[in-house]
Amino acid sequence: MTKIKINKSVSVIYISGDGYSGSTLLDILLGSQKNVFSSGELNNISREGLLKEFCSCDKQLSDCELWSDIFEKWLVKSRITVDEYRVLKLRYERNKATPRLLFNCVFPSKKFIDYCNSTKFLFETISEVTNCNTIIDSSKIPQRILVLKRIVSLRNIHLTRNLVGVLNSAKKSKSKNIKKGYETNIRPRRTSKTILDSDVKNLLVELFTIGVNSKKIAYDEFITNSKILLPFNKDLGDYKDKIFFTPHMIAGNALRLKKNIEIFKKPETNSNLSNKQLMLAKLIGIIFPFWK
Ligand SMILES: [Zn+2]
Repeated sequence: MTKIKINKSVSVIYISGDGYSGSTLLDILLGSQKNVFSSGELNNISREGLLKEFCSCDKQLSDCELWSDIFEKWLVKSRITVDEYRVLKLRYERNKATPRLLFNCVFPSKKFIDYCNSTKFLFETISEVTNCNTIIDSSKIPQRILVLKRIVSLRNIHLTRNLVGVLNSAKKSKSKNIKKGYETNIRPRRTSKTILDSDVKNLLVELFTIGVNSKKIAYDEFITNSKILLPFNKDLGDYKDKIFFTPHMIAGNALRLKKNIEIFKKPETNSNLSNKQLMLAKLIGIIFPFWK
């Protein structure tokens, strides 16, 4: 059985935390520098139907030369199929897989070693094909931190957002439109589930980043003050009058498909929330202030 060996020459900036927190935007901002590649939510690499979805180069993944090249080289190197990789990913990277993941961190099984190695080969291939030694992965999943720290040189960003903003985003609905970047029908999420999920994910990120190079950044901070991101992107000047785009990002928010992304602080309107939901989100934000 081969072991899991870290490749320190591949550097990954991982964006972790809850959904609805602006992770795609953060991924794009950090990727706007030399030798750094914004990959998007890389955990979706084995998602069924991904090849029909759109890359930010406006081509379907199956027609994007860059990603076709990555897929081909990665699968040769890792010697498992995309379907096998998807099964392994679900074994370790979701909330209910946490006990199994923790056990494997101490007593790694062959399957866990295969998963870690294949994920490392994916990052190595992306680095080789894009010629970038730093890759941004905005998958957000807390469990993934424990995989990444074993295989690459990892810097984590724990992205947080006030609960009112999270809940307002979670209440939006969109019809499926692959061309526009909505891969499924998006339905408004239940208030209680959104709040519980948000707190569980933030708590798990806190636990899994013990001993990891990690910085907590709030959505409200980074969209108003680019200086907060300087440790991760020293070329990033003032956002004012700047326009961003990302060349080949997969999965994540539909924002990635836009060609003129401007950053400015819009007052939060909370238009998707009832008064009761707004009060509840504010109250819980006061009781649990750690991630807001
Ligand atoms: Zn592309």
